[in-house]
Amino acid sequence: MNAAITLSNLLNNQVPLAITDQPQFKQGKYVYAFGNGKAEGNAGMRAVLGGKGAGLAEMSALGLPVPPGFTITTEVCTLFSKQGGTYPPGLEADVAKSLATVEKLTGARFGNAHRPLLVSVRSGARASMPGMMDTVLNLGLNDQTVRGLATQSGDPRFAYDSYRRFIQMFGDVVMGVGHHHFEDILDQHKKVCGLSLDTELTAHDWQDVICEYKLKIHEQTGRDFPQDPRMQLWDAIAAVFRSWTNARAVTYRRLHNISSDWGTAVNVQAMVFGNMGDDSATGVAFTRDPATGENALYGEYLVNAQGEDVVAGIRTPQQLTVAGKLAHRSKLPAMEEVMPEVFQELNAVRHNLEKHYGDMQDIEFTVQRGKLYMLQTRVGKRTASAALKIACDMVDEGVIDENQAIMRVDPASLNQLLHPTLDPKAERQIIARGLPASPGAASGKIVFSADEAERLAHAGEKAILCRAETSPEDIHGMHAAVGIVTTRGGMTSHAAVVARGMGRPCVAGASEISIDYKTSTMSVRGLVLKEGDLVTLDGGCGEVMTGFVPTIEPELSGDFSRLMGWADARRKLGVLVNADTPADCRKALEFGAEGIGLCRTEHMFFEAGRIIAVREMILANSEEGRRKALAKVLPMQRDDFAEIFRIMHGLPVTIRLLDPPLHEFLPHGEAEMNEVADAAGVSVEFVRERVIKVREVNPMLGHRGCRLGITYPEVYEMQTRAIIEAAAIVAKETGVKVEVEIMIPFVAIESELRIVKEHVDKVAKDVLMNGDKNVHYVVGTMIELPRAALNAGKIARQAHFFSFGTNDLTQTTFGLSRDDAGSFLPTYENRGILQGDPFVHLDLEGVGELMKIAVERGRKTRPDLKLCLCGEHGGDAASVKFCHELGLDCVSCSPYRVPIARLAAAQAALSLSS
Ligand code: PEP
Ligand code: MG
Repeated sequence: MNAAITLSNLLNNQVPLAITDQPQFKQGKYVYAFGNGKAEGNAGMRAVLGGKGAGLAEMSALGLPVPPGFTITTEVCTLFSKQGGTYPPGLEADVAKSLATVEKLTGARFGNAHRPLLVSVRSGARASMPGMMDTVLNLGLNDQTVRGLATQSGDPRFAYDSYRRFIQMFGDVVMGVGHHHFEDILDQHKKVCGLSLDTELTAHDWQDVICEYKLKIHEQTGRDFPQDPRMQLWDAIAAVFRSWTNARAVTYRRLHNISSDWGTAVNVQAMVFGNMGDDSATGVAFTRDPATGENALYGEYLVNAQGEDVVAGIRTPQQLTVAGKLAHRSKLPAMEEVMPEVFQELNAVRHNLEKHYGDMQDIEFTVQRGKLYMLQTRVGKRTASAALKIACDMVDEGVIDENQAIMRVDPASLNQLLHPTLDPKAERQIIARGLPASPGAASGKIVFSADEAERLAHAGEKAILCRAETSPEDIHGMHAAVGIVTTRGGMTSHAAVVARGMGRPCVAGASEISIDYKTSTMSVRGLVLKEGDLVTLDGGCGEVMTGFVPTIEPELSGDFSRLMGWADARRKLGVLVNADTPADCRKALEFGAEGIGLCRTEHMFFEAGRIIAVREMILANSEEGRRKALAKVLPMQRDDFAEIFRIMHGLPVTIRLLDPPLHEFLPHGEAEMNEVADAAGVSVEFVRERVIKVREVNPMLGHRGCRLGITYPEVYEMQTRAIIEAAAIVAKETGVKVEVEIMIPFVAIESELRIVKEHVDKVAKDVLMNGDKNVHYVVGTMIELPRAALNAGKIARQAHFFSFGTNDLTQTTFGLSRDDAGSFLPTYENRGILQGDPFVHLDLEGVGELMKIAVERGRKTRPDLKLCLCGEHGGDAASVKFCHELGLDCVSCSPYRVPIARLAAAQAALSLSS
């Protein structure tokens, strides 16, 4: 097939280069064929054909060597699930027709004893879900056709090995007979025959194994292994559709925000074999290095191997290039050396695909007796630093423009770059080396199971998951762990691919380590480490160390600052920071924050030396007592604010007056009560009585926010004085104008804000009596209660600005608590009642609607009302996009999320203008 595709026309790009964006989707068409330089679908049809199907169609239309086949659409999966496992009318006839075309193109017949057509049946969803769903290879083999394959290939051993692989996969995936049953039979057979490697088994051995496999299937299911290829095909198709709802796929979707409504497509494709001898191979590659972004073919292959062998991480694969071989200190020859011509052809495909898609691709290929076949192409997952480098390099190469480069980098992935790496000067007790599979550094306790990693994470501890290899069943533990170590597998093993996607540091294939799951220990050159021991890993250089190793801050220059510069030039939203310590303020400025959007003053209350005075104030039962204690806090707060104003050097600073209920500051236990009693000169009994009085049952909704400002005005009075005095000191000291926004929390009623504002203005006027022109302050409020959102028109009469406190607004809109919603929210997400955690991604239908109302009503009263958001959502890309669409002026988020918000804001501006 595709005989017309030669290396020279690939190199000369004599193939069409424009991706067909317009889907050729036809209502009621359930099967799309591809092969022989043609395709009914294209790359724009991911939603219908899934990523794999769309990629196969596009590659086929491009004239690349793709074995012929067809894709059954995702719509069929949805109908199949909804209609209790039945197919839409006409599907069987369409599949039969497409199968006949594949037969024609390959010259083989399904079920034919002499020239049997064998197919693979693979899942393929719209979004990549590596290893989460099922696949069956070599389908079409039975007791007759296996003989045909033996004659045709001239290799009976290969034919019977293929047949047993098929029975094993089909038995497991379709008939539900656990993989271990087949492994046990094979191990037993090898033991009896005194063999250790699969490659030592003869055709005869495989025939014996096949008989035992069939008996086992009958014993486990009461059914015979089906001999009719058509029955095999339909059973396999149904199994792949069903695998959309298996437990690991459901977990993966939840972690990656993939809709359960999308469904998977099924790809049926003529088999090509990478296990037909030493001139055959199978491999996976990236068109650029997915860890560093370097512009070179990057990947691994295995000679004489089939399908999933590379990804499964069972055999250590060989490198494609000589440079890769040297970098990985591999002793095995590279493909470039072993199969130079096929390698050149693959390299030509790489250039072709990159040019065509304008992005780095992740490809799968098979070499059958010296001929290259492409089995998959999709946009390749990459580390954040690779994403930055690839985006910038591609701009320089003229492949994409700056706008496309901005859209190419996932804002959340920047997180990987902003976190510390190991201090190069720190001492490292290196115990093993493996592959640098996913960058970053982490220290934590050794665990050997995914469940244990999850348990530790729930207990607030850091776990390093150590496994011989990982599989899709481990996905929850990989997510819970801070780092992953495997002793087997390469850069494209499951552990490596998933860890990179999640941004977890990972060292893969650290083969000097041996793990004993039974004793929960791992050993390396005589050193035995047990579960719970502390280790550190560096995924950037592939090292595993004992103990804790200190880290250093990352450098944010080069590609990072280049891309951020492009983003800043395009975004409309301002990006501020939620910060209340000098360290956070400095970090935020480094990350590009344009001011402070939320300074929570309560954290300052907890500091040593002042918490006693704060407690004294709370427990006083008279205004006079409170004023006495507050007088001790005032100079300390003033110093805090002055330091912040100095660091922010004229940038706007929004300071929120005290918000949490006083209850949170109460002394715990006898010792603390004694301490307060001493400081205040009262008895412990008195303190105990007051503690009982102040304690609340529902503090998150109780006596907090502006309610404190109204009932204890002296608290806000002290804070206002501290803020304005500090501003005046710094303005004088630096000659730079200080811009302060005083923010009143938890307002529900206009008059609450009016009363508090009047008081703030009075104190400020008093402090600024000398007329310091270099201090400018305004008063605004948070919108964090539904009543405030609905009454925004009235509240705006008192406020210069609104800042949406979407943490509380989410809590109060849903009527659920921020602190304990975690006990049931996961069930809501798993059952699809909620698409994602509303405390992470803004709930647009509820909270978003309230924000819309508040924006409209607030701006109607005061057209120049400044609007910001300062809940956790300020660092979430989807929520930032919504803020942009709503026309807010800025978002404010924690320091490490400032770059995420900057990039997300630029992406929002670009996607809205396109
Ligand atoms: C909010 O409620 O969104 C907010 C920023 O305030 P806090 O998280 O301090 O309640
Ligand atoms: Mg709040």
